[in-house]
Amino acid sequence: MKQQKEQTVKQGETYRIEIIDLAHDGEGVGRVDGFTVFVPEALPGDVVAARVISVKKTYARALIEKILVRSGQRIIPACPKAEWCGGCQLAHMDYSHQLAWKEKHVREALARLGKIEAKVLPIIGMENPDAYRNKAQFPVGVAAGNLAMGFYQKRSHQIVDTDYCRIQHPLINKGMRTVKQALMDLGIEPYNETAHTGTVRHAVFRASFSNNTLMIIFVTCADDLPQQDQLIARLRSELSELASVYQNVNPKVTNVIFGPKSKLLWGEPYIVDQIGELKFAISPRSFFQVNPVQTKILYDLVKNAAALTGRETVWDLYCGIGTIGLYLAADAARVVGVESVDEAVADAHCNAELNGIDHARFYVGKAEELASWLLQEGLHPDVVVVDPPRKGCDPGLLATIKTVEVPRLIYVSCNPATLARDLAILTEYGYQVEYVQPVDMFPDTAHVECVTLMSKVEK
Ligand code: SAH
Repeated sequence: MKQQKEQTVKQGETYRIEIIDLAHDGEGVGRVDGFTVFVPEALPGDVVAARVISVKKTYARALIEKILVRSGQRIIPACPKAEWCGGCQLAHMDYSHQLAWKEKHVREALARLGKIEAKVLPIIGMENPDAYRNKAQFPVGVAAGNLAMGFYQKRSHQIVDTDYCRIQHPLINKGMRTVKQALMDLGIEPYNETAHTGTVRHAVFRASFSNNTLMIIFVTCADDLPQQDQLIARLRSELSELASVYQNVNPKVTNVIFGPKSKLLWGEPYIVDQIGELKFAISPRSFFQVNPVQTKILYDLVKNAAALTGRETVWDLYCGIGTIGLYLAADAARVVGVESVDEAVADAHCNAELNGIDHARFYVGKAEELASWLLQEGLHPDVVVVDPPRKGCDPGLLATIKTVEVPRLIYVSCNPATLARDLAILTEYGYQVEYVQPVDMFPDTAHVECVTLMSKVEK
């Protein structure tokens, strides 16, 4: 740890700050008398006048009052709401600089947090970083006395009413406008977060890029959705692409979007999208990568890393709806998937069938608990793929991977910090990093995905 200077920064004061880097969440980093100050929306090369809003022991946070010198990385955001909307953190940064920063961020996280000098390959960005998302979860509430639907404002729970979000598939934007008008015309009440009253708290949209179809999920406070039939009739008449309408009931006072119960109000139970040659059925709450264009690239990287010959048993841990395992199945003898959400495992089975794959099995449970059971069942792997959520792999799973001594281990990660931590542990366990390949799945945000190939060190 670098020695922090004695803290002289005062809350409420404005300072001139030169921005020297970006933090992991995309906030600008500068120093005042050697003391670290985070400045949201500031970019390396900016010099800003920023007012300090909070002071902690080792750092402070300040908001831009004025940009004194503009960074060469700064652009005018393509989105007119970017100044208020909390959806994208890097909309004001030129895309080539976003990519360069993400690659550097991965390299630094590995070196600083994992003490790993790994070969980090040049990041793979998008050719056209627009309209890339297939899923949006819009809060529904009231702003200025009217029904509002869009994103939360930066650092608040105020909804920024939105008609268009440039990173979403066009069908999602069309669906959002149609739903908003229909709710208003039919007098269906938006949620009031403070009083916990009203009907609709979120409208969730999932689009299939390959089929150009749309699933809409209304998250409501209670079982009752007044005017339900009129609402569906209206959506069907205005959205020829509509494939299904669900209601999910979430009566709790919580920031978690979905409640436990989903019911199909109209249409197909799944939305179907395609990655490469494979079709995937996705139910309302199952995980599916949000950027299908880059997902094809990501899965091809996994396929390359796996270097299958047709004789291998592949473990796909944290498998979601079975996508990676099924993507590899044509070149493997057997695929075994593990996933903790039962709805996703049901989708995985359905997806195996949909693609005529009969040598893939999927199990509901925690990867850290089922991995040793798979070994007891004689399902010893030749290739292991892990694709955990942001918190990374459970130490118990890493301990099992240590005993397995698998020749090829592929780690797909959406969080460089936990990737660094886990690669450090796996290195201790006798694996070595061959390379880390960053992929940009989330342009205009601070997120970055990586595919890492590890191999077992020969004794
Ligand atoms: N590989 C998939 C899904 C990756 S997202 C894809 O590419 O689409 C991570 C998945 O891990 C989610 O589906 C989540 O439900 C699941 N998950 C979270 N914790 C888990 C655990 N302890 N064991 C198994 N699966 C888990």
